[in-house]
Amino acid sequence: MQIVLRGAAAGYEAEHTARIFFPGAEKAAEIPETGDFVLAASHEKTDFVLLRQGDSLCWRGALRPADADGEYALCTLLYGLLKQQTGQNPPWGMMTGVRPVRIIHDLRAMGATEAEIEDRFLGHFACTPEKFALARGIADLQRPVLENADPMDCSVYAGIPFCPTRCSYCSFVSRMVGDKATRALVQPYVDKLCEELTAIRRTADRCGLRIRTFYIGGGTPTSLSAAQLEQLMGHIARTFDLASLEEYTVEAGRPDCTDAEKLRIIKQYGATRISINPQTFSDEVLRNIGRRHTAQDILDCFAQARAAGHENINMDLIAGLPGDTVEGFTHSLKQAIALNPENITVHTLTLKRASNLVVEHRAAAYDDVAAMLAQGDLLWQAGYRPYYLYRQKGTLQNLENIGWAKPGKECLYNIYIMEEVHTILSAGAAGSTKLVIPGKRHGKIERIFNFKYPTEYIDRFDEVLARKRGVEEFYERYTTQTLCQL
Ligand code: SF4
Repeated sequence: MQIVLRGAAAGYEAEHTARIFFPGAEKAAEIPETGDFVLAASHEKTDFVLLRQGDSLCWRGALRPADADGEYALCTLLYGLLKQQTGQNPPWGMMTGVRPVRIIHDLRAMGATEAEIEDRFLGHFACTPEKFALARGIADLQRPVLENADPMDCSVYAGIPFCPTRCSYCSFVSRMVGDKATRALVQPYVDKLCEELTAIRRTADRCGLRIRTFYIGGGTPTSLSAAQLEQLMGHIARTFDLASLEEYTVEAGRPDCTDAEKLRIIKQYGATRISINPQTFSDEVLRNIGRRHTAQDILDCFAQARAAGHENINMDLIAGLPGDTVEGFTHSLKQAIALNPENITVHTLTLKRASNLVVEHRAAAYDDVAAMLAQGDLLWQAGYRPYYLYRQKGTLQNLENIGWAKPGKECLYNIYIMEEVHTILSAGAAGSTKLVIPGKRHGKIERIFNFKYPTEYIDRFDEVLARKRGVEEFYERYTTQTLCQL
């Protein structure tokens, strides 16, 4: 399927409205002579949309009222055509944004009534009442966190771009530690990462920032050797005031590189939350996605984590993996619940262009993904509550990822980053520092990017540090503006 856009109102929103129905569709400059395509075209006073699929050709056109929002009018016409022709009823309706909960926070901050917010979701976006209730429940739960947001708060993220093997659905910049060239990179990478974290601490101090949470993610942080993990976490413990943190997460990720010693190191150096991510408890599906471990390895790893004293554990699952079924996913969910972790995060498979699933054209249509996510009732019954939610472009059926937590065990970092509550200072390859001054609507946000690949990050490290001066400039501007307003 290809997407062809014509006219001033046919832009980002129309493109992503088409992808609600055809997640892997590519944008094309010209109408293709053969093959399936969607056309969305806006003219001065009219809109026209067309779908060619196989031998079938159908279209709709409409006169646009003088006061109409052109982009919204075109998208509504397109959505109506594609919904009718595909027979799909997307649960989030026409919403293309990735942060539904954020919309509620923003509308509330601007003084919208609850009825107006409901109308926005059910009327404007054509969401189902169930999805709106889900988003509103999460917004209510997050409200106190947002109300406590201080412009001078921040969190720190450190990224480890290495993994034991590549999962077939992965599109992250992560290199496999199994190959010799990559192994040689890991030690210099850890050394530079420590240096960057030192610089971040100094920057935070100079800007007067208060660090609320710390997060080591990836990739797979436990793909470091025990000695490298100890080096990194020991450095963090010496450089930052861990006692003042609200939360310190380390992604222990995969059991094929996480052992009792690494779990001990993570605990010893102050992490308060870890993540062990089975994705599925089916050995067959684990093989399908290119993982080298079994479901039993996950159970053993979880038991080792509890034995090491980890009292706040997250487990990630993915709905829609190749070869999985509704029954298989339900089994995985029940297995995760039986372990009684404090958090369970349920992702929906996302087809990113760089992933092997897409590259190898093995992606299947998963009609039952919605049925998998509906198993969330099991989480409710087990005492978990949804506390953060986001969607990604290319997610199967345009569905969502939901973090579930036992009450009081919500991951603050996830809320901070997803709802853009405060600045995230990122260290490491592909790190994206997001500078945030909270405001009534979206606040003020700027970004500073690190180099994407570990080799570039190591070789051009001086540039990485130089770019980070932008953090101080951002806060200098903010402080000056605030003083001028006094
Ligand atoms: S563990 Fe995560 S980052 Fe690593 S290959 Fe798998 S999906 Fe990608």
